[in-house]
Amino acid sequence: MTSSAYTGRFAPSPTGPLHAGSLVAALASWLDARAHGGTWLVRIEDIDPPRCPQGMDQEILRQLHALQLVPDAPPQWQSARHGLYAQALAQLQDAGWAYPCACTRRDMDAALAAQGYLHERHGERPYPGTCRDGLHGKTGRSWRFHTQRYQHHALAEAADLDQEAARPDHPLLQRDQPLHWQDRWLGPMQQDVAAHVGDFVLQRADGLWAYQLAVVVDDAEQGISDVVRGADLADNTPRQLLLQQALGLTAPRYMHTPLVLQANGEKLSKGLGAPAVMVDSTEQRMGVLRQSAQYLGLEAGNASTLPDALAGWTAQWARRHLGNTAATGGPVP
Ligand code: GLU
Repeated sequence: MTSSAYTGRFAPSPTGPLHAGSLVAALASWLDARAHGGTWLVRIEDIDPPRCPQGMDQEILRQLHALQLVPDAPPQWQSARHGLYAQALAQLQDAGWAYPCACTRRDMDAALAAQGYLHERHGERPYPGTCRDGLHGKTGRSWRFHTQRYQHHALAEAADLDQEAARPDHPLLQRDQPLHWQDRWLGPMQQDVAAHVGDFVLQRADGLWAYQLAVVVDDAEQGISDVVRGADLADNTPRQLLLQQALGLTAPRYMHTPLVLQANGEKLSKGLGAPAVMVDSTEQRMGVLRQSAQYLGLEAGNASTLPDALAGWTAQWARRHLGNTAATGGPVP
């Protein structure tokens, strides 16, 4: 990949300051962009205002700046991009891939229980499909992606079936259809979105945009070629791939980096009050970057300045993740 073809991004939700876990994702995406001789962007994902304390975006930018992880263009804020998300939703509605849903959480729990899903089975549960074929007089609250209808359409297209033959009961459309993709860190991945997640939300009942829609629109609009982020988001990738296909957008490459775990094995997260990375002194800055580099499997090295340390990790990253030739044109040290 030539340098001009590479654009990466770090896309923090400003719900808390950068912590050891989010810094790993920031550093990985920065290193990958630098190793490719590409462009690195920062996008503030503030689409859920109640979860974003005032000033947290500036705090994250301050921390990144202190660590010399500086974007190549001014950051973008999702809160300023509603028009783009509305356009994408309209496109999906027009194509028949989006439908309104009247379900409350309680409705969904009841429908899932009726379908045999146990309440204890927490975490990801597929949407039961209640409003998929119409609201039956109820009022729509959110908008969902019609996963199965879209998957059938894509399958029928791939198999060259005409309208008449492509009815949902066609045997070809009855097969499980896991989506396959190649993750640059995790290797070959697959998921059947219809079975595993079901019809996911595009616009929430409170009017806020869903992460899946916003991230897909922004990655495409900003020309992102490579998404490098934490492995906790790997599971979202197939939903994003489906949306990209449905919107006629080019999919970026994906790489999901290891998560920073706490001593008890839980993921370090803002929700659990992970402490902010401290960046006030050179020592602190070097310390937190060294720790992040180590999580990424890089050797700490003995550089005494941040630029030297970052250059050393970039070279290591290039050797590991780009084969033997760095796209920067020069030989890898
Ligand atoms: N905003 C998301 C987060 O902070 C990351 C989105 C992404 O990298 O796709 O968890």
